[in-house]
Amino acid sequence: MKIKPVIGKKVKVGRAEKGAGLGLFAEEQIKKGDYIIDYVGEIIPNAKCEDHPGKYLFEVDDHFTIDGAMRENIARYINHACKPNAEVEIDRGEIKIYAIKDIAKGEEINYDYGKEYFNEFIKPIGCKCTSCMKKIKTT
Ligand SMILES: [Zn+2]
Repeated sequence: MKIKPVIGKKVKVGRAEKGAGLGLFAEEQIKKGDYIIDYVGEIIPNAKCEDHPGKYLFEVDDHFTIDGAMRENIARYINHACKPNAEVEIDRGEIKIYAIKDIAKGEEINYDYGKEYFNEFIKPIGCKCTSCMKKIKTT
């Protein structure tokens, strides 16, 4: 089963400023508290997660996980940041991303991926978010 992308704000995929890869950028001013986008994908029962390896698995609750690897899920381009401007809220089985700061047009959108993901995928290669890069520069 797949869900169509749900997008609340104008956003676009673009090249991330720091490091390699792509990111998701605001194409209009977003206010603190605004709903931005849903993280959508294939719904899989948690018991079957082992058959779905990958970086885009998002555990919704004790019962199921969303595999956001599909191309239509542009929320998957949102990068991790340790001091993010957005956050994830799980609402009745849907993964919704809200702004927790005002986000200017053209600014990259990011959220904190959480400890588990961080330790597994980010820590081994080093975090390249803006606040961590600043830390490296000043020390
Ligand atoms: Zn960081």
